[in-house]
Amino acid sequence: MTATESARILVVDDDPLTRLMASEALREGGFVTLEAQDGAQALGMFDAAVPDLVLLDVMMPGLSGFEVCEQIRARPNGALVPIIMLTGLDDGDSVQRAFDVGATDFISKPINWTLLRFRIRYVLRSAQVMKELTRNKESLSNAQRIARLGSWEWLVGDDRVQRSDQYYRLFGQPASAFGAGMEAVLDHVYLPDRPLVAAALEGARRGVGFQLTYRVVWPDGSVRTVVETVEPGDSSEGAGLVMEGSAQDITDQVDAQRRIRQLAYYDHLTGLPNREFFRENLLGAAVRCLRNDSRCAVMVVDIDRFARINDSLGPERGDQVLQVIGHRLRECMGDRAPAEPAGGGALPSFKVARLAADEFGILMPDVGHLDEAVAVAHRLLGVVRAPIHVPGQDITLSARIGLAVMPDHTGDADALLKAAETALNRAKRTNGEPVALFSEEMKVAAFLRFTLEGELRRAIGDHELRVVYQPIVDAATGMIVKAEALVRWPHMGRGPVPPPEFISLAEETGMIVPLSREVFERVCADIAELEADMPPGFRISVNLSGVNFMDAQLIPTVRAELAKAGVPASRIEFELTETVLMRDLDYATGILAQLREMGVRVAVDDFGTGYSSLAYLRRLAVDTLKIDRSFVSELDDGQGIAIVEAVIGLAHSLGLEVVAEGVETISQLAALHQRGCHLIQGYLFARPMSAKMLSQALQSGIRMPPGLSLPMVGKDEGMFLGSFSSP
Ligand code: C2E
Ligand code: CA
Ligand code: CA
Repeated sequence: MTATESARILVVDDDPLTRLMASEALREGGFVTLEAQDGAQALGMFDAAVPDLVLLDVMMPGLSGFEVCEQIRARPNGALVPIIMLTGLDDGDSVQRAFDVGATDFISKPINWTLLRFRIRYVLRSAQVMKELTRNKESLSNAQRIARLGSWEWLVGDDRVQRSDQYYRLFGQPASAFGAGMEAVLDHVYLPDRPLVAAALEGARRGVGFQLTYRVVWPDGSVRTVVETVEPGDSSEGAGLVMEGSAQDITDQVDAQRRIRQLAYYDHLTGLPNREFFRENLLGAAVRCLRNDSRCAVMVVDIDRFARINDSLGPERGDQVLQVIGHRLRECMGDRAPAEPAGGGALPSFKVARLAADEFGILMPDVGHLDEAVAVAHRLLGVVRAPIHVPGQDITLSARIGLAVMPDHTGDADALLKAAETALNRAKRTNGEPVALFSEEMKVAAFLRFTLEGELRRAIGDHELRVVYQPIVDAATGMIVKAEALVRWPHMGRGPVPPPEFISLAEETGMIVPLSREVFERVCADIAELEADMPPGFRISVNLSGVNFMDAQLIPTVRAELAKAGVPASRIEFELTETVLMRDLDYATGILAQLREMGVRVAVDDFGTGYSSLAYLRRLAVDTLKIDRSFVSELDDGQGIAIVEAVIGLAHSLGLEVVAEGVETISQLAALHQRGCHLIQGYLFARPMSAKMLSQALQSGIRMPPGLSLPMVGKDEGMFLGSFSSP
């Protein structure tokens, strides 16, 4: 067990959802968590439990995060505890203030949970080293107070030197072995430093004082560092020029400084330079590149689905994998092993760095042509793909690379790194070519997404979102038995924004919580309006995102909205994807049981695209499976039949209802019906429509597609199929 594994983390946030999510994520990472919902409670818990790390929200009612941080720092046992502050997105002032009040690090909301775990482990390790350093320093200064500094007195004319015992000890020598005269000291000075010391002594011979740090060699060959101060002494007794010196061993401090530097500039896990150092190096390379009229390229390498490795093999194996990858990238780029920065010496230059959890940065200071950089990128992909042996198995990884070149894409070092990251995002989104070269169009797209975020926030606030309903038809009876509520954003300037686009944005930014609330409120109001038209058992199904499902306010909100609109729970079904349900089975079981108790039904959306595990289906109180559109569309060319058959069979054996979505053709309908799936959603029967249209459809019945004589009288398959004209 590593030292950080059972570390106790105090999570302070007034928002219960953030608190819940943070605790879940951290517990999954092997940490123990404590939760406080405001500053006062946090301080109380801090005093009672003294956690190993504090995760502190900036914005809280009552004491702000800054005040809490300041008060922790003022406590005797709070000086060294790492404090990570949660700030708003790109909130420069908060970041500055966080550091001003003594925060160790910050992480901006919305929180990337995988990254958070890495950050915390990193910060805990650094804190451990700092603690040791402080202890070392304390014992060092104690020792110095107790033992006097080594000293000497030199009668320059006679070259007679009186050295204290402690002085000899600095050289690890007995007095008898040291040698006589001032120059004798040179024999014990580390060879490269000798000219320096000799020159300083030459000056001292003429009465010039100095302070010099140099290294000495002990008889056992070990090298230590001393600092020596020399001044003219008291010559009043007529003995001619007298010089006095004192020296002390500062090896421990020098080592400590080197370690601090190591911490500041290098990634602890891989030994590679970190992001800060990478940026510094890039700055230098950019200046040279502009001066010499040459090209320099930056690549950002991101390992695909690395979180999965961590989740399935555990964080320690994940760490090992990252070490292997770091080593391979370095070898591939011909980087030397990261040199220990010499005490005070210049920092070395390099090509490979670790930028974030599973993200590596590559700097190519001199590329002739763009193709050259692309070729290197493909070589790097090759080394990532080579199997990695961990005890018991071989892992094969893949990666994506974003590439940007200076001056082709930008003339600024920071912008160059951003451009490479923008390109990487594109490579991640498209799922095609793993190497993406930056382009202006990407910049525009990234900017649009950014502005879209602001507009969506406003649209939710201004109630601009609309809800439409897509009927779900029982093909055996021709009745509309359900309708799925689907959100719409009729954007004034841009035209309608596709739901997957703004839903994913809302999920990433946390806006999905108010968005879903808005949708649910609308749905309840519409149900209240349509109640008279709805046949018994008719339900509206409403999509929920993962964030909604994890929201501690979900159940209370649903109850409150239903009560407000006077709508019974039996009119509602929620659609959740398998991935969301599987994330935390215990949690899901609990929530689903509460929903069932209320009378709300639950459907598994996009079934077949995720885990599709029978074990969890048995355990969870779900009512409906929705066969994903992708399988339905494959039915046309005879593919996908096996999967569809399996899903229908599974649903029937568990006593679940099964709905096919995205049904567009009569032949798809026939194939589904023949296999016992009668509940159909798709353009074949109806597109999503307004609440008003839905009410009409409920009254007049659905218009059946031509070539199909419905309503059917029973569920008899033969009868039904017999009424098709051949498609
Ligand atoms: P989904 O839950 O799988 O919804 C079904 C999608 O398939 C809808 O797209 C619907 O219009 C479309 N569809 C239905 N029949 C057919 C068909 O025959 N052919 C084709 N090609 N498409 C069909 P839509 O409305 O664009 O929604 C896309 C996704 O956005 C939804 O996928 C759902 O994941 C998400 N979404 C929509 N509304 C909400 C919402 O209110 N809350 C949340 N959390 N997600 C929503
Ligand atoms: Ca759905
Ligand atoms: Ca779906």
